[in-house]
Amino acid sequence: MRVVQRGEGESAYAVVACLHGDEPCGAVAIERFLASDASLAEPVTFVIANERALDAGVRFVDEDLNRAFPGDSESDSHESRLAARLLTELDGTRVLDLHSTRSFADPFALVQRRSAVTAALAATTGVSRVVDISAVPGGLVGHVDGVAVECGYKGTEAAAENATRILRTFLAANGLLDAPFQRSDPTLFEVTGVVEGAGFEFCGRNFERVTAGEVFARRDDEVERAAEPFYPVLMSTDGYDEIVGFQSRRVGPLSQAEW
Ligand SMILES: [Zn+2]
Repeated sequence: MRVVQRGEGESAYAVVACLHGDEPCGAVAIERFLASDASLAEPVTFVIANERALDAGVRFVDEDLNRAFPGDSESDSHESRLAARLLTELDGTRVLDLHSTRSFADPFALVQRRSAVTAALAATTGVSRVVDISAVPGGLVGHVDGVAVECGYKGTEAAAENATRILRTFLAANGLLDAPFQRSDPTLFEVTGVVEGAGFEFCGRNFERVTAGEVFARRDDEVERAAEPFYPVLMSTDGYDEIVGFQSRRVGPLSQAEW
């Protein structure tokens, strides 16, 4: 794990990358920022979490780090030890957690703790959509006050550029970096369920409404039809081994949602 603090004193904010080693965009964004001569108004901690998995180009070594919290510093599992160390490093900070995906090109935010703090953090990422995924337990942003952002397709330069912009927007909108930024009022989607199953081809579009009775996934001669209307989130053909992705409902503008 690589931890770099910029500025003196105790950090109130942290930027985390590479909980998943096969998602390099956040590490690129952090390296670019650290290589720049930008100065920060307050100390910020930057973390490249799973360096071993990043170097190997794999999602994880022993287990999914984003499902290993709170972790155990004595564990035989590399990611369980990392999880425990990460929570110690991030204690008391507000966190931006950078990811990438197989599901969608445009960046979107994810929150697991519903609070005024996390709603404000989501708006400081500048993205146009935010997903409340508190229905699915686990994840770093369920254990700290923070927002995760899916920055685009895994391994693409577009995702690295998005991550770079989102990192700077987050720092500027939180008053840490003197730079232009655009705060957003993202549309809130709330995860209501998971679609299980391996080997399905997803044939809908994420964040676009699936109507009741519509086919949204198929596998050989088998089809999945929507029992009720929903909005797909993180759905893809090859993003997960055991699930197609998540169903959600569209709540509306985050600023008008009840939290
Ligand atoms: Zn990830």
